[in-house]
Amino acid sequence: MASVTNRPIRMCVRLLLTLIGAAAFCGPVPAGATALRINESMCHAVSDFDVSDGEVETLRFACVGSPTYYQQRSLWLRTDLRQMGIARGSVALMVHNSRFDRLAVAFAYADGGVRWQQVHQGDYGLHWRTGGQIVFEAPERPAPLIAVTMRFDRLASHELVRAHILSREQSSMQSAGMAAAVGAALTLLLVSGIYGLSLAIAVRRQYLAWQAAWAAAMLLWGGLWSQVHLGLFPSLAGTVSAQICTFLACLAIALATASAVTALDRSGVSRRWRMLTLGLGLCIGLAGIPLALIRSGDIGRWADLLGLVILGDLAAVAICLVWGWRHGSAEARDFAAAWGLPMAVLAFINLVDVEDGFWGGGSKLVVLVAATWQALWLVAAATRRVTHLRIERDQARVAEAQAQELARRDPLTGLPNRRGFIESVTPLLDRAQSDQLPAALFVIDIDRFKSINDVYGHDAGDVVLCRIARRIARWEGPICTVARLGGEEFGLLAIGMEGIALDRFAENIRRKIAACDHSEILGERVVTASVGVAEVRPACDFQRLYKIADDALYEAKRAGRNQVVLQRHAGAGPAPDVPDRQSKFSRPRRPVDI
Ligand code: GH3
Ligand code: MG
Ligand code: MG
Repeated sequence: MASVTNRPIRMCVRLLLTLIGAAAFCGPVPAGATALRINESMCHAVSDFDVSDGEVETLRFACVGSPTYYQQRSLWLRTDLRQMGIARGSVALMVHNSRFDRLAVAFAYADGGVRWQQVHQGDYGLHWRTGGQIVFEAPERPAPLIAVTMRFDRLASHELVRAHILSREQSSMQSAGMAAAVGAALTLLLVSGIYGLSLAIAVRRQYLAWQAAWAAAMLLWGGLWSQVHLGLFPSLAGTVSAQICTFLACLAIALATASAVTALDRSGVSRRWRMLTLGLGLCIGLAGIPLALIRSGDIGRWADLLGLVILGDLAAVAICLVWGWRHGSAEARDFAAAWGLPMAVLAFINLVDVEDGFWGGGSKLVVLVAATWQALWLVAAATRRVTHLRIERDQARVAEAQAQELARRDPLTGLPNRRGFIESVTPLLDRAQSDQLPAALFVIDIDRFKSINDVYGHDAGDVVLCRIARRIARWEGPICTVARLGGEEFGLLAIGMEGIALDRFAENIRRKIAACDHSEILGERVVTASVGVAEVRPACDFQRLYKIADDALYEAKRAGRNQVVLQRHAGAGPAPDVPDRQSKFSRPRRPVDI
């Protein structure tokens, strides 16, 4: 049991180690790429919009400190490639997509030539790549490239600017790697989202619906962040997509929180704590709306504040999961395993700067992969639990059917009991009645059975009962149904038999029972039975039939036992009262040898 419980944790740890290994392997900066950073390799300047691109030489660049007051102006970032030893060959500049109105890039050559390329909000031309990157390839010229300058108009935050210089081949390889990773993650998210939704509809569990909504939000977020949507909607390039992304990221956290909290409904976690966690998730979801509306302001400060709330939300969810897990909740265990990795990933990307790593996809690619893992795990766990429930339900049904069967059967003789007999003969009688067929009920009662118990003991009485039951069971067939009606009384219903055949059959029953050999237990003593027969045409309901047969049996006992009394009745008439026993159809029968 312990190993089953620990398996998810071990898998999480293993995956986390793989992730850390991958991070170390991919490195903070992809192989062959040089990261450009303000104050390290980039100098900065701020100007008004009316300064034209060509006037770059008139600007005074500062190589220390951070740029300020550029959100409503232009921020210029210049890199001297000569100092970095990247002057020749086919060079590309890769910039992480961010919030800005326009980005113009100037490649300056040693012969004084300058080549400009630019992207606008709503028009990234052919510069966008899957994975949230914008690529500018330096035109190849005889003169060496000496500097690269970026001009951002209305940039939201310089801290969000990520750029690196690399060869064109490297840039193509990175883009291809990113496209493959993003494509795989989005496909898996899509599949798990659709599957999760169908599961939610099939089993009507609220948390599965929240989970599917979360997967859908992550799918949209991943699609927008990685820019794959620009293939269909190029005019969404830039800030609009980034704004929607911010909203979706907040919404996804709120939905994931709702999914975890609703899954822990019956897990022992206090309602107050669950409501608090849900409240934090709701705050994050709502905060996404104003944050998404900030077009070009400084979102850094708000993002920091939101980061704190997100950490609080994660901690609250973690407490819920641990709480539920300790109370034995299977949902809590599954969620802990599913959330473990994304939580570790969030902590990891806060501690280690991976923004330039993972083929330039940075932390967002890591989050997307972790979300895919989470979605797949949750779907797999839900499937396992639903399968488990189905198996349990099927087992319960089988057990119920067995219990029902036991309730319909007499444990001593194995024959159906009175209840089972009535259940099985009722439809037969109904059909016979509608087909106008005759029905005959035989009530067979062992004579002076009490004295057998008294003289030979109860166990001997049981053996006699079983032996007679086995003999009666041999008449069970297509037209006969047999049962032990109670005590030492047996029943036999025959459909379609009447007249002389019925007389003979009844007499045969009496004789065969009397002929049973009980010498082993009772020595010379012969055990006989009296038989009361109700013959009704057309068939009627069991109660009426039984009453007639019981009356006939009474007559047989009164007439001296070990004999058959048959009463014939018309089916549609009322059930005879006890004094009606002497109706014109009633006639005590002497045993007939056949
Ligand atoms: P009669 O000829 O009038 O039917 O007399 P009887 O003794 O057969 O009828 P009575 O109703 O007086 O007694 C029936 C007895 O059957 C009483 C009861 O102890 C016995 N009996 C009922 N069920 C069982 C059983 O499962 N095993 C045994 N050994 N005896 C049973
Ligand atoms: Mg009896
Ligand atoms: Mg009896």
